Amino acid sequence: DVNVREILKALGIAETNPSWSTGEKWGTAPDTEAKAVVSPVNGQPLAKVIFANAGGYEQAVQEAQKAFLKWRTFPAPKRGEIVRQIGDQLRKNKEKLGALVSLEMGKSLQEGWGEVQEMIDICDFAVGLSRQLYGLSMHSERPQHRMYEQWHPLGIVGIISAFNFPVAVWSWNAMIAWVCGDVCIWKPSEKTPLTAIACQKIAADVFKRNGVPEGVSCLVAGGRETGELLAKDPRVALVSATGSTRMGKSVAAVVGARLGRVLLELGGNNAIIITENADLDMALTGSLFGAVGTAGQRCTSTRRLIIHESIYETFKARLAGAYRQLKIGNPLDQQNHVGPLIDKDAVQGYLDAIEKAKAEGGKILVEGGVLEGEGYASGCYVRPCIIETEKDMEIVQQETFAPILYLLRYGSLDEAIAIQNGVPQGLSSAIMTTNLREVELYLSAAGSDCGIANVNIGTSGAEIGGAFGGEKETGGGRESGSDAWKTYMRRQTNTINYGAELPLAQGIRFDL
Ligand code: NAD
Repeated sequence: DVNVREILKALGIAETNPSWSTGEKWGTAPDTEAKAVVSPVNGQPLAKVIFANAGGYEQAVQEAQKAFLKWRTFPAPKRGEIVRQIGDQLRKNKEKLGALVSLEMGKSLQEGWGEVQEMIDICDFAVGLSRQLYGLSMHSERPQHRMYEQWHPLGIVGIISAFNFPVAVWSWNAMIAWVCGDVCIWKPSEKTPLTAIACQKIAADVFKRNGVPEGVSCLVAGGRETGELLAKDPRVALVSATGSTRMGKSVAAVVGARLGRVLLELGGNNAIIITENADLDMALTGSLFGAVGTAGQRCTSTRRLIIHESIYETFKARLAGAYRQLKIGNPLDQQNHVGPLIDKDAVQGYLDAIEKAKAEGGKILVEGGVLEGEGYASGCYVRPCIIETEKDMEIVQQETFAPILYLLRYGSLDEAIAIQNGVPQGLSSAIMTTNLREVELYLSAAGSDCGIANVNIGTSGAEIGGAFGGEKETGGGRESGSDAWKTYMRRQTNTINYGAELPLAQGIRFDL
């Protein structure tokens, strides 16, 4: 029953949309072809976007530089108050914006709304944070000296985001960066520019009403090349990039070459260990949603189940039974459990991974395949599949961004932890057990090596209050809650001598 035209109109999306914005101002790169954004839900075009070129990018950077000089002088709580108003506007637009997320990206309507809720939550978090950008104060070793640290804004924060969380990732970065006094340039995924345009309009409207200068919120729609402009630009103090490990390695090298700062949120290869002491009902629910929710297109999606040998056969049978009940179809129909993949390239990646797993000796437990016929016209709907594997198979080491679940079997918990950690990625992980010793070992220094380690919940999804991110090839970045804000600021140590003498540190004498 979703009226697509009405939603697009209400969110300010035109038939053909300009490519860059510094707030109220929008611009279009001349002689650039408009690209159609096609919905994976039904294969129909939603609207067109003209991608930016280097000229549009340059306009955004210059405006952002100017804006920073003013924005950094707004008191942080005042910046927080403006972010609070953005949160209010997101509340008002939650239903429509969530539906556009579903239409453009293909996740379920519930998850589309959930994503907008996450944006609202981070706004609330950022408002509180705007009064808590605390530095420490230390005792000086010299008499009549005071020493403390303070946190200052960095400047321009470039945000490169992935298609699968088309708006939440921007908000995790932008809301925190804004209360920290930074200005933002957002390069959304080329697969999901429309939701980005809608968000930019919502933010720009609030900034304008509060007399905030143009350039605090900038958007540059484009592909990889536009992301590369941000990476190599020394005027961009921090590049926060979310996406594949391949992209992260490239961005890290380019930003590293100019000694800029990066915050990387890259791929995962997340596992759940199910021990012989697990509550198997909970393990089933956690595994099922983790593996097939969002059609396996979350960075925290469950890719591997590491199951104790004593319950392996029982659990495997229950899981296969649950898979047979899954309804695959239009994500806007709330009866369905699994929606489409983002595009046909992703479908090919899914098929290739299944073939590779088979070639390496994997045993198919639940057969995959591409769905055809009524309701599947986009060609992006696939069957979630389960493959029994061995830990040393190459395909199990890789992240395939699709609903493919690998089963592995283990004997001792040490072995299970070694299997879990024995992949290049280190994002999310979980253990299902009711045994205290197993829990504590798993969470100890000798346990999970991931940025996120859960007990009796799956790997998928996270709350905004914690710092989000992972180790190894996941990139090491942390964003959202806890003290992740520190990445968006520079620390300055200040020592003040209020005495009439100038003693040197470490007791050094320098007498003439
Ligand atoms: P992707 O790497 O193809 O693209 C991500 C973004 O990077 C896009 O905006 C793209 O235009 C840009 N980009 C690509 N190459 C670039 C380059 N060389 N320089 C600068 N920018 C470049 O990823 P995707 O397919 O959109 O998203 C899926 C991937 O993202 C998965 O690997 C998933 O695990 C990961 N992801 C990670 C997190 C996390 O928080 N760890 C969250 C969401 C998604």
